[in-house]
Amino acid sequence: MHIDNDIKLDFKDVLIRPKRSTLTSRSQVDITREIKFRWSSELFKNIPIIAANMDTTGTFEMARVLGRHKMMTALHKHYSAQAYIDFFKSLEVKSDAFYSLGIGEAEFEQFKSVMAAAPGAIRYVCIDVANGYTEAFVSFVKKMRETFPDIVIMAGNVVTGDMTEELVLAGADIVKVGIGPGSVCTTRKMTGVGYPQLSAIIECADAAHGLGGRICADGGCTRPGDVAKAFGGGADFVMLGGMFAGHNESGGEVIEKDGKKMRAFYGMSSKAAMDKYSGGVAEYRAAEGKIVYIEDRGPVDQTCRDILGGVRSACTYVGARRLKELTMRTTFVRVTQQLNEVFGKS
Ligand code: 5GP
Repeated sequence: MHIDNDIKLDFKDVLIRPKRSTLTSRSQVDITREIKFRWSSELFKNIPIIAANMDTTGTFEMARVLGRHKMMTALHKHYSAQAYIDFFKSLEVKSDAFYSLGIGEAEFEQFKSVMAAAPGAIRYVCIDVANGYTEAFVSFVKKMRETFPDIVIMAGNVVTGDMTEELVLAGADIVKVGIGPGSVCTTRKMTGVGYPQLSAIIECADAAHGLGGRICADGGCTRPGDVAKAFGGGADFVMLGGMFAGHNESGGEVIEKDGKKMRAFYGMSSKAAMDKYSGGVAEYRAAEGKIVYIEDRGPVDQTCRDILGGVRSACTYVGARRLKELTMRTTFVRVTQQLNEVFGKS
């Protein structure tokens, strides 16, 4: 047994210190980024915020709206091959949406068939497993890189520098970082495993950047300020589930409770998801996600504007003219309080 006594931080433990700046307006801030990759020759030129590949956020409808805001969507993996092909073929401009898959042979074969049916349409893939520390996962990333040398591969999830490096070397362009911070995730509760998300971002970004790799901070952002902190900590991309959930574009069962329209949002390892896609929770495992019902939030447009406005404003406070400069200009201060909640929590 070993104890690491260094203090590790979450978003709630810090604030970003303001800095003197010559910027006079938020409109002077550019939050798009140009990102080059270690393996793929693709040049990313968008806002690096991604809707999570959960079936209640990673929908085709979400991808269309987020695309208009220059953000990306990781589509969930439960669409049929034909639905994927139709979606990618229907786009007028090449899409930055991610095709998601696990590491099963059937999923690999399906991806190959979709790639063959819609050549050139898919440029980004998200290889997603709950635990990115297995040899089988690393081998799969290698196989994908060998089979598709020029595609942008995002792979995860991990939370430590050593495994980030291993995945970059295996062929990942973007390593997805986060174990346990998600809004509908119960991994920490069920297993005791995890890592404070902001420290995970800082440490994994450092490891990835040393090798020309990129990271995507995945999970734990509950408000626009957290997205700014994730970028400030070194994340190249930030993935959001809960913040994009509950909208018209999110999908998910709608129920009425106390006269209010509520939408289901659940973890992809929850009993709700396993009942839907795998015929229930297998004997040998426990669910590591939960279901919640959130009040309907209407179209996702306003939420997009709030998130982008928050990040843009954070850049103004520290004098970052471009999102790329935010990390360099970020000093985190450790705090014991975040918000004044005397009039409630919102
Ligand atoms: P959020 O933005 O809601 O805090 O976190 C979203 C992330 O939570 C997803 O991108 C994914 O990595 C993670 N996640 C989604 N469903 C589950 C689940 O059922 N269990 C766990 N452990 N994590 C989940």
